Amino acid sequence: MKRHPLFGQLRWRIVGAQMVVVVVGVVVVLAVTNLLVEAMLAAAVAGVGDQVQAAELARELSAAFRTRMLIAVGIGALGAIVAALVTGLLLARQILNPLYQLALSSRRIAAGRYAERCDVPDSDELALVATSFNQMAEELERVEQQRVTLIGDVAHELRTPLTALAGYLEGLLDGLFPAEPETFNAMAQELRRLRRLIDDLQDLSRVEAGQISLNLAPQPLVPLVRQAVTALLPQAESKGVSLTFAPPQVAPEVLVDADRTAQIAHNLIGNAIRYTPEGGAITVSVGVAGRQAEVVVTDTGIGIPAEVLPYIFERFYRVDSSRSRQSGGSGIGLTISRYLAWAMGGELVAASAGAGAGSTFTLSLPLAPASSPAPRSTEPNQV
Ligand code: ADP
Repeated sequence: MKRHPLFGQLRWRIVGAQMVVVVVGVVVVLAVTNLLVEAMLAAAVAGVGDQVQAAELARELSAAFRTRMLIAVGIGALGAIVAALVTGLLLARQILNPLYQLALSSRRIAAGRYAERCDVPDSDELALVATSFNQMAEELERVEQQRVTLIGDVAHELRTPLTALAGYLEGLLDGLFPAEPETFNAMAQELRRLRRLIDDLQDLSRVEAGQISLNLAPQPLVPLVRQAVTALLPQAESKGVSLTFAPPQVAPEVLVDADRTAQIAHNLIGNAIRYTPEGGAITVSVGVAGRQAEVVVTDTGIGIPAEVLPYIFERFYRVDSSRSRQSGGSGIGLTISRYLAWAMGGELVAASAGAGAGSTFTLSLPLAPASSPAPRSTEPNQV
C-alpha cells in the first residue's frame, strides 16, 4: 500500500524542529561570545598607554578571535546539523513506522480482514496504542464471528418448522396424510412455532440493539409474579408438575416495566415447567436482598450440568437441542430475559447442582426509591 504523503510531511517536521534548535543555539552562541569578546578586549588593551597602538591591538585581536570563533562555531553547527538530521530521522522512523502500521491494519480491518493485528512497538506509549488497537480488532472479530453464527442459527431455526410444514403439505397433496383436523392441527402447531420464533427474534434484535422502550414505574412485585404463576398453572397441572407460589415476608415495590417483568417471569416459570418431568415441583418466591427485590424460581427438574451453565444465556444455546426444540424452545428466551433484566437495572442468574439436580433462576430487580416494604402478604401460599 502506498504510504500516505502526511507521513513524509511529519518526518520533515520532526527533522525541521531539530534544525530550529541548532539554528537558535548557533545564533545565541555567536551573540553572547560577541558581547564577551568586546568586554574582554577592552580589558586587555586598557594597560596600553598609546591610544593608537591600543586601538590597533584591539582590532587585530578582535579579527583573530572572530575568525577562530566562526570556524569553531561553524564546525560545531555542522556537527549539530548532522546529529539533528540523524536523530530527527531516527526518531521519525521510531514514531512513524508504528503509526503507519496502525493505519495499514485499520484499513485492512475496514476491508473485512478481521484477523489483522499490528506489532507492538518497544516504546511504552506506542505499545499502549497498539495493544488497545489489537484489543479493539479482537472484539470486532468476535462480533463478526457472532454475526456469522447468528445468520447460520437463524437459518437453521427457520428451516426446522418450514421443513415440517412442507412435509405435511406434500403428504396432503400425495394423499399420504388425510385432510383431517389432526393434520391441520399439527400444521398450525408448526406455524405457531414459526411465529413465536420470529417474535422472539424481533425481541432479541431490539434488546441487543438497546432499542427496547421501557415503561418504568414503581409497582408491587407480588401481583406481577402471581399473575404469571396463575397463567401457567394449567400448563403445570397438565404436565403433572406442582407449581407453588411462596409470598414474601415483605411485599416489595420495584421500579420496573410491568409487561417486561411479567415476560421474564413467564419465561422462567415456563422453562421450569418444560424442564421438570412429571411428579416434579416448582416453587416461585419473592423476597428482598439488600437494595434489590428478588424473584426466585426453583425446580426439581433435569438440572443444568456445571460445564454448560455459563452458556445458557447465550442466544440459541440449548443444553439438549433435540429435547427443547421438540417442546418449542428456540433457545433465545433466557437471552432476551437477561437483556430485559439488565435494561431495567436488574440481573438474572442461574444455579444448578448439576444434571438431574434441579435448577434455580434468580431475577433481581431494583426496589422503587423511597418505598418502604409493605406489610406481609396475607394471600394463600398455593396458587
Ligand atoms: P428454550 O426456549 O430452549 O427453553 P431458553 O433461552 O429459555 O431457551 O433456555 C436455554 C436453555 O437453558 C434451554 O434450552 C435449556 O437447555 C436450559 N434451561 C433453561 N431453563 C432451564 C431449567 N429450568 N432447567 C433446566 N434447563 C433449563
